[in-house]
Amino acid sequence: MAANLLDFDLDGLAAFCEQLGEKRFRATQLFRWIHQKGASDFDQMSDLAKSLRGKLAGSAEICGLPILSEQASTDGTIKWLFDVGNGDAVEAVFIPEEDRGTLCVSSQAGCAVGCRFCSTGHQGFSRNLATGEILAQLWHAEHHLRGRLNLAPGERAITNVVMMGMGEPLQNYDRLVPALRVMLDDHGYGLSRRRVTVSTSGVVPMMDRLRDDCPVALAVSLHAPNDALRDPLVPLNRKYPLAELMDACNRYLDKAPRDFVTFEYCMLDGVNDSEEHARELVALVRGKVSCKLNLIPFNPFPASGLKRSPRERVQAFAKVLIDAGIVTTVRKTRGDDIDAACGQLAGEVRDRTRVEQRMTRAPIAIVPRPASGPARSQGSR
Ligand code: SAH
Ligand code: SF4
Repeated sequence: MAANLLDFDLDGLAAFCEQLGEKRFRATQLFRWIHQKGASDFDQMSDLAKSLRGKLAGSAEICGLPILSEQASTDGTIKWLFDVGNGDAVEAVFIPEEDRGTLCVSSQAGCAVGCRFCSTGHQGFSRNLATGEILAQLWHAEHHLRGRLNLAPGERAITNVVMMGMGEPLQNYDRLVPALRVMLDDHGYGLSRRRVTVSTSGVVPMMDRLRDDCPVALAVSLHAPNDALRDPLVPLNRKYPLAELMDACNRYLDKAPRDFVTFEYCMLDGVNDSEEHARELVALVRGKVSCKLNLIPFNPFPASGLKRSPRERVQAFAKVLIDAGIVTTVRKTRGDDIDAACGQLAGEVRDRTRVEQRMTRAPIAIVPRPASGPARSQGSR
């Protein structure tokens, strides 16, 4: 079977080229053609020897993901739905701002964590994405957008990546890390570690590994100030409770490219949004973890049975945090008109039989969720 070259970081590609009897610098040239120029055809790679192009044609391919749909919002947000086979689909969302362009990328088809307020969680877990499937989202978006936005040669469309699409990235660790390396590689997308953010619901052992293997900016989905409330909202909390999670954040900060962790907190009406909860949150983090708080208005979906907190309650909650000296932002929802905000990405599934099975298991809306932008406070988009 032909190897998909999108599956390799530069070291992996060099090892592959060595098997073909080629030197490492050939791998670098090939890598640049793929990621910097968006080439998918070996014949385009004019500075590679014909003999190498022949060998590649016989053993490798550059295989992106089929696109099921593309939707553009009036605010410039663009959402792609990619087919990952077997009736599953994943989404990536581009969020343009004045000074940056952020791509929100998926790491899994579905998610096994099963958070109460998340449409992906309700969908259940289908499978991990391969490194090449994670990168295919960026590869397509970057090269498509360069043409669409009429960028000058060398100009980048995507300046920030946030692993905040579908799935729990740290439960797909072995495929995630090579993908992050390609994003960071100067011969790849050349993004700085501060501009690549991994968002996790708190897989403590993998946070430690990420710190050692490939430290990038970290966002942690908190959503509750105590274990009694976090247990039902983020079931992973039963395995890695808040005290352990806070310790892991501090260990991460030893090597992190930013000197704070971004805590994400989804505001759920009458569940976790009182001023008392805010005070408990202050007690949990103040003087203990260097952090910023990002309050996310809940994006509802029918089966959740939950509601978005009213604006005044979000403001009151934010005020308690700000008065306590904690940098706090309220996330702006983007791409509302194309269902592209956080927590509603369920992937539109083509195989309706499968949809019905899922609906029986967990009756959810099989519509793409709006994926809004990442935390402004962390400068990640
Ligand atoms: N699994 C990872 C990353 C993907 S979720 C994580 O949980 O961190 C990205 C962010 O969207 C998380 O902070 C998540 O809590 C938030 N989110 C999930 N469902 C949401 C919803 N319905 N409304 C608003 N935010 C949501
Ligand atoms: Fe998974 Fe994150 Fe959704 Fe929780 S919020 S179910 S961890 S994708």
